[in-house]
Amino acid sequence: MTTHVTVIGLGAMGSTMAETFLKAGHQVTVWNRTPGKAGALVALGAHEASSPAEAGELLVISQLDYQAMYDSLGDVDLRGKVLVNLSSDAPSVLREASDWVAARGGVLVTGGIMVPPPGIGRPGAYTFYSGPAEVVTRHTETLKAISDVTYVGADPGLAMVFYQSQLFMFWSGLTAYMYASALAQSAGVAPSQLLPFAQETFGGIAGEGPMGFLKYLTAEFEERSYPGEANSLHMQAVGMGHVVHAFEEAGIDATLPVALKRLFERADAEGRGAEGLGTVIESIKKP
Ligand code: NDP
Repeated sequence: MTTHVTVIGLGAMGSTMAETFLKAGHQVTVWNRTPGKAGALVALGAHEASSPAEAGELLVISQLDYQAMYDSLGDVDLRGKVLVNLSSDAPSVLREASDWVAARGGVLVTGGIMVPPPGIGRPGAYTFYSGPAEVVTRHTETLKAISDVTYVGADPGLAMVFYQSQLFMFWSGLTAYMYASALAQSAGVAPSQLLPFAQETFGGIAGEGPMGFLKYLTAEFEERSYPGEANSLHMQAVGMGHVVHAFEEAGIDATLPVALKRLFERADAEGRGAEGLGTVIESIKKP
């Protein structure tokens, strides 16, 4: 079914989304704050609006943050419009934005898209959506052009809770790999020598085997019980101190290892050293 989609924001993400909607056969209107970014899309059949007021019923927004939406649509009549905002921001900002759109007669669907531009419209791409379920369902067929639709709930902040959780794991996991590679390189070990072991670690953590800590910890989080007989937090806090020592003596940055050491030591000092590593979540919940 052909739908009219208005894409607001023609950065790396928005312009790829507009192109993907066009290739899926939809009628596409585009608008960007700074003119001059729509040429290639117009050549593919898009209509370039001179103002966001020309938007149709369904708007897909991809901008730097939610402030950009206020700046762009502050003067636009939103009655009857569905705004699907795929920009990044904090959950509370999305909740306020939902009220802001509703006060202007529109409906906000919030989304966190989990792929970079080359992944848009490709198999495996997915987006966390939150907001009114019936509105998401009504537009699912159209939205599926850019990615799978993963609906996570009515609270408009939820899309970003899932998105930020995923991004945090992505960034901190990869930064841990950068630290590990820098440590290895400081001792003359080539990054390619470390790679198979990094793959073993990341794969094992996510897997079903004896290193499948994601699964073990999830069960512990749900039970709020953290058995530590096999490997106590105290032992791991001391071990994290050895990691910090290794970074410091190598003369490389130790910011992330030091932050982990402090966190482990705090959980230990709070009296939970005999429990397992999972007990650190209790310290994270109570800063
Ligand atoms: P870009 O920096 O490429 O584009 C930003 C867009 O926001 C531009 O269209 C820019 O307009 C617009 N914009 C910024 N500030 C304002 C404002 N005050 N008023 C109106 N328009 C404004 O970003 P991306 O396309 O890479 O990212 C867009 C969103 O998608 C971000 O929230 C990002 O976190 C998220 N995201 C990005 C991914 C990626 O890999 N790139 C992956 C997943 C999500 P102008 O051209 O006028 O400056």
